Amino acid sequence: MALTPTLDRSVCLVSLGCSKNLVDSEVMAGHLGRAGIGLMTEPEDSDLVVVNTCGFIDEARQESIDTILRYAELKRSGVIRGLVVTGCLVELHEKQLAAEIPEVDAFLPLSDYSGVPSVVDAVIGRAIHDGPASTGPVTFSGGGASRSGSRTASGGSKGGSADLGRSLLTPVHTAYLRLGEGCNHICAFCAIPKIRGKLQSKPLDVLVEEASALAQLGTREISLVAEDSTDYGKDLGKGYGLPELLSELGKIDELKWIRVLYAHPATMDDHLARTMAEVPNVLPYLDMPVQHGDEAVLRAMRRGTSPARIRQVVAELREAIPDLTLRTTILVGFPGETERRFGHLMDLLEEIRFDRVGCFAYSPEEGTEGVNLGGRPSRRAAEDRREQVMRFQRDVLRSSNKQRVGKVEEVLIDGVDTLAGLDSSLAVARSRRDAPEIDGQVLVSLTAAQAEGVQPGDFREVKISGIKGYDVVGMLNE
Ligand code: SF4
Repeated sequence: MALTPTLDRSVCLVSLGCSKNLVDSEVMAGHLGRAGIGLMTEPEDSDLVVVNTCGFIDEARQESIDTILRYAELKRSGVIRGLVVTGCLVELHEKQLAAEIPEVDAFLPLSDYSGVPSVVDAVIGRAIHDGPASTGPVTFSGGGASRSGSRTASGGSKGGSADLGRSLLTPVHTAYLRLGEGCNHICAFCAIPKIRGKLQSKPLDVLVEEASALAQLGTREISLVAEDSTDYGKDLGKGYGLPELLSELGKIDELKWIRVLYAHPATMDDHLARTMAEVPNVLPYLDMPVQHGDEAVLRAMRRGTSPARIRQVVAELREAIPDLTLRTTILVGFPGETERRFGHLMDLLEEIRFDRVGCFAYSPEEGTEGVNLGGRPSRRAAEDRREQVMRFQRDVLRSSNKQRVGKVEEVLIDGVDTLAGLDSSLAVARSRRDAPEIDGQVLVSLTAAQAEGVQPGDFREVKISGIKGYDVVGMLNE
């Protein structure tokens, strides 16, 4: 039963997983907003909850399932009228989820999500008609909410199309720019190519249009994201890639900070490193997952790279980009990782001293090559190694933060908190070294007078005066 457009309806959108999934959620939010459907931050204030899931690794899948179950409970108790589940976990396990969690009214696999408003209307319509106890997939114009119908009904394919009309779920001054969809690599531990398909880059002019639209909205920092950003454009065969994109984005004056995330050592090259150094608003910051430091383990992971290549790429980057902040991701516990091979990883980390490291323990992913490989270390051993990597990295971070004390740094203000009962405030900011959500922060003490003149989205000079855990603290350099 289609709802009359006048009826107030609202959705709480829960976005899980990576920044690329967040862009999907923002695209959904844009479609919902244009259809006159309100977006609420609290589920209790909304008619329906949409959970945009992640299916990357064990922990992420468990978090997605726990989140769905939490809202299924709210639906059973009548707090919300409907529950819709989207994203990567649906691509992997829709049938199983539908069988085990009948409270879910619709499952939407990956698409451009333009059909989400009609799904929401159909679900709320049925809830009004059949009452809160309604379970099982709804039907709506364009076929059943099951896999066969939903891809077209819930919108066209997405691939290289523009993510225009997004409603940002980040503060407006910082946003992600997704360069495309899918991946051409075949890493033996990763299900993403199976979930999101082969690389489909967005045309350069589409990305420049998107970035300009974000800049008009007030975005000052964009973080470029993809499965492998350094592979950008290679599938289009138009003779351009990430260096050309950075040069074009660099011409958008309002964009003060352009940050490159998800580079790959196999596709990183000197031309890109030099372009990053030359384009003024491209930050001396790079996130480049290397995953491991042992020859045999990298080969078994099908990473298409080697410890020697990683060392060479890092040397080229540091030579080309002064003051580079280098982040990486490490995977421990992969089949074949002996104590000696783990030692080679620690050797690489001690030699390169990455500025920022995220480390995960391997979990076998259905449909990936790694599942069939023998010689997998125990979970205990993998967790111990992960802790060893993070312990080493904490020391690296502490000593590099100590060297920042006394220095003046440009920061981007993310928020200002007035400290209750105190005649002062605290600005939460990030320096060029700190990517949103994954790196540390700069905590800036402000007098009441200073706080009146500081807004989220401002760039300010801060004198670093000390460190606090993973963060540094400081004051305005006035
Ligand atoms: S580069 Fe490897 S790990 Fe990254 S998305 Fe592609 S297949 Fe997965």
